Amino acid sequence: MLSLRNVRAGYGGKEVLHGLNLAVPRGAVVTLLGANGAGKSTTLNAIVGLARCSDGSIELDGVPLTNGTPDQALRRGIALVAEQRELFGGMSVSDNLRLGGLLRGRSRAVAEDFEKLLDTFPRLRERLAQPARTLSGGEQQMLAIARALMARPAYLLLDEPSLGLAPRIVDEIFDIIRRISGEDTTILLVEQNAMLALEVADYGYVIETGEITFEGDADALRGSAAVQESYL
Ligand code: ATP
Repeated sequence: MLSLRNVRAGYGGKEVLHGLNLAVPRGAVVTLLGANGAGKSTTLNAIVGLARCSDGSIELDGVPLTNGTPDQALRRGIALVAEQRELFGGMSVSDNLRLGGLLRGRSRAVAEDFEKLLDTFPRLRERLAQPARTLSGGEQQMLAIARALMARPAYLLLDEPSLGLAPRIVDEIFDIIRRISGEDTTILLVEQNAMLALEVADYGYVIETGEITFEGDADALRGSAAVQESYL
């Protein structure tokens, strides 16, 4: 279980999260919904140490994670796919993927995961030798997700995977999210597209100006008048 308790966090002197509580049990898909600037990305950033916590705690299975580095988070099994995707544009699709598995060293399991991921993302198989920057937006998002999965993370944090993509590609990406979620891969999904997010999620939180204002089962959130009014 990944848990955030009374987390205050932000950048420099600026506090963005004002006492946030959130729990992501293993095997679940949890979504964090909210308007622009509410603090969704900052929540993910705080988990991997890209935003500083000034109070509260972040724990994975009861062991503190607070104010670590993204590298430490990854070693603990938490991978972030940032909104900007952060691919190495000049490097091939294949090399970007291999970089994702670097922490695991060279092993048969890594080679097998490489092949398995290309089955999950057939568009990437067709473009293995192409520089990442020549991919379409949707393909780049797929590559960013696949690269994160090469580390075989227990927790995958996804920041707005649908952003700026055509509806057909968004559907494709959400199908993939459905397929990779499960016992071995827990997902915390930040989304502007609440309807879509609540279709794949088990549980959801609504964040407003750095605080959780509403939470519940995905079905309950979909049915809630307040959530429908603001986000659906
Ligand atoms: P969006 O969908 O627009 O990304 P969000 O809910 O993810 O919204 P955050 O990105 O967490 O919101 O931003 C919350 C606040 O923190 C905003 O006021 C933003 O300007 C500020 N902020 C975000 N990143 C930084 C940063 N690196 N340095 C300083 N302030 C930041």
